[in-house]
Amino acid sequence: MNIFNAGVCAAVLSFTSVVDAMAATLPNVAVLATGGTIAGTAPSATQTTGYQSGVLTAQALIASVPSIGQVANLSAEQVANVGSDNVDNEILLTLAKRVNSLLARDDISGVVITHGTDTLEETAYFLNLVVKSDKPVVVTGSMRPSTAIGADGPSNLLQAVTVASDPQARGRGVMIVLNDRIGSARFISKTDANALDTFGSSEGGYLGRLVNQQPRFETRVAREHTTATPFDISTLEHLPKVDIIYGYQNDNGYMFDAAVAHQAKGIVIAGVGAGSESRFIIPAVKRAMEQGVTVVRSSRSGSGFVPADEAYPGLLGDSLNPQKARILLMLALSVTQDPARIQDMFHRF
Ligand code: ASP
Repeated sequence: MNIFNAGVCAAVLSFTSVVDAMAATLPNVAVLATGGTIAGTAPSATQTTGYQSGVLTAQALIASVPSIGQVANLSAEQVANVGSDNVDNEILLTLAKRVNSLLARDDISGVVITHGTDTLEETAYFLNLVVKSDKPVVVTGSMRPSTAIGADGPSNLLQAVTVASDPQARGRGVMIVLNDRIGSARFISKTDANALDTFGSSEGGYLGRLVNQQPRFETRVAREHTTATPFDISTLEHLPKVDIIYGYQNDNGYMFDAAVAHQAKGIVIAGVGAGSESRFIIPAVKRAMEQGVTVVRSSRSGSGFVPADEAYPGLLGDSLNPQKARILLMLALSVTQDPARIQDMFHRF
């Protein structure tokens, strides 16, 4: 071997050992992919609607972010590959069980879930209630498909992995990370059908933000979550059926009768204003409750609390929007039918 070759060889050896040493000190983060626009592709770089959701695999998503390997050692798993309108209770339970089994391992520091944005908040809130670990769990997605100019998926995935790798992210409940913001699954919702900065909360659901890819945490949520809830899904195969019925002028009680006829165990009312019920539906709400169905009043207004009001039958959904109230009611009904206990859960979680 001449000197030049020996030098190259030594350089290669030392570079390899530097890389190995770095990998050994990086946290191990598991990426679980479920589909959505972040994994979507369109025929042209300008097409941002009408594309196919859930095409790219978990491995391909990670490969699209060149520097991501400097943040964490990543493993990739495909739990589903669907638009999030097609995420069902079975996928929720499979995903949550997998998250819990990964987080129970000493060598795993955190989990990132990629997901369609349409129902991302429902999955994130479900995990917020059933994950049994303080380790960070971050849900992310994108509004533009992977093929679009200015696709937001790679940046959101890098930020999600960065937050999931950060020891300061522990114990904050499940987080939603997109567009430089770190939000709580309890409070953050999709607020606009098309805008890139769609995820928001009118009542301060942000835990912090990312600046220069560094998480800057500001707050913790007061609502109980993860290890503090009574929900154990480890042996659960099904969730009780809960429907949502929308309130509007001249609404109809027969929607409640239909839900009862289809064996709903719970009904969430997306009520007008602060969860008010019209004279057209109150008799049907009472009929449903007499049949043993648990009814929860929430608001279709987008934010705000549902106050107690004896004129309206049903439990109070607190400040949960109807879709998150449905998630909590399914879990509550999996452990109890006691109205007082369920009401307490709505005020605590
Ligand atoms: N339809 C897509 C979904 O929720 C939208 C998105 O991911 O932005 O899967």
